Amino acid sequence: MTRMIIIGAPGSGKGTQAEYLAAHFGIPTISTGELFRTHVRELTELGAEARGFMDRGELVPDRLTDAMVARRLADDDVARGFLLDGYPRNLAQLGALDEVLAADGKQLDAVVHLDLDEEELVQRLLQRAAEQGRSDDTETVIRRRLELYREETLPVVTAYAQRGIVVEVDGGGDRAAITERAIAAVGSFLGAR
Ligand code: ADP
Repeated sequence: MTRMIIIGAPGSGKGTQAEYLAAHFGIPTISTGELFRTHVRELTELGAEARGFMDRGELVPDRLTDAMVARRLADDDVARGFLLDGYPRNLAQLGALDEVLAADGKQLDAVVHLDLDEEELVQRLLQRAAEQGRSDDTETVIRRRLELYREETLPVVTAYAQRGIVVEVDGGGDRAAITERAIAAVGSFLGAR
């Protein structure tokens, strides 16, 4: 039973790595980006509210995001643990997650920080834009998402680092090598506790 978070900039490959890590540890992935995209696709009320923020590269307001995550964390499959991908993305969300977990007497085991330099991030994002055509993968929006990551999300990594639960993983290189590195780093961190 492992409760983990993966944090990485847009373009760091965190969504892909999250799937492989979660499969390895036998836990479900909870991706807020994917959850929001599903709501948008299925034309739900939450999707309608979230869409404009996503298309501009802004964060969806915390009250919507926190409620969506809290609901998902109450599902049965999460009793085995979980890997959160894309949440918390600011310090207020970190506080909200602490409360949800504490209410159940639970805490986080590890936070994987996928680290990559900004040049490589922009390259990967532009390539993804060409391949997948995600509506928030235009250059202006990409820059805004990177800025928000620096300003809002890196402080989350710092806060978890102060708790001693951050596992740093070099996000450079090919997909399989990063996965191997991440699994090894998390495994030895969890084993050493
Ligand atoms: P990326 O990390 O590549 O930007 P995500 O799929 O994680 O992509 O997120 C896409 C968009 O969904 C974000 O730009 C934001 O608008 C919204 N989103 C995802 N997670 C959150 C969150 N925790 N808080 C607020 N908005 C979020």
